[in-house]
Amino acid sequence: MNLYDFDAEVNYKSGAFNKHYRTRLAGRVKRIVKQNLPNSVADSFLHGRYYTAIVTKPLCLYRVFGRYKGEYFTDEQGNARVVGSFANGAFVTTEFAESRIDAKIRLALEPAWLNSHAYEAKIIVPKGTILNIGKVAPVTTKGGTFLSGGADQILLPRDWSENIIVGYRYITVTQLRNPPEYSIKNIPSFDIKSTVYPLTCPKCGKTDIRLLSQDERIDYIGSKGNKYTTRHICLNPKCNCNW
Ligand SMILES: [Zn+2]
Repeated sequence: MNLYDFDAEVNYKSGAFNKHYRTRLAGRVKRIVKQNLPNSVADSFLHGRYYTAIVTKPLCLYRVFGRYKGEYFTDEQGNARVVGSFANGAFVTTEFAESRIDAKIRLALEPAWLNSHAYEAKIIVPKGTILNIGKVAPVTTKGGTFLSGGADQILLPRDWSENIIVGYRYITVTQLRNPPEYSIKNIPSFDIKSTVYPLTCPKCGKTDIRLLSQDERIDYIGSKGNKYTTRHICLNPKCNCNW
């Protein structure tokens, strides 16, 4: 049986895992004459520095997004309203999110923007697309938390087509240990409290999970001697993890 070893979990530093898989821009983009971006956009790049480039070979990029409807955000009549960001927003990056918190740090996602960061879209940008490229600048949130940024920040053309999205996934609450799969084809137009944090497999991050019956549950001991009882099985045939 494939038992998940919680004792082997060691949290890594943001960006330490995804750097091995990051999309390299060298040889895939060519610099062109710099576009003048509005100050509000230019200032979101680290030191206000960015360059303009044209894609010369298809480029794999990622976008964190999500919309949420909950009691905290209401209209003037007191009705819950939907907040957050869409899949086809302009800001994308070269690295997948390691977890929701890591995405927040690496992409400096200010909570005031109300992005639920529940989802990630994988995008294959075609040859000929014009990009503006720099690094994510740090942000200190209104609550005083310092988010260091540091990921590549890429601005897609405003009217980019969602047809270039090849798949979606839930961004896990816990850190990824394996590169993610983008097996979700359609995303609900918004989440509510009960769906925004779905149960995900700790090993593969997928949501195809079955609760084990009392008879199926077993006790096991992790590599550091801690005791666990299985309650779930991952239905991803490549994973089949029990925890
Ligand atoms: Zn799994």
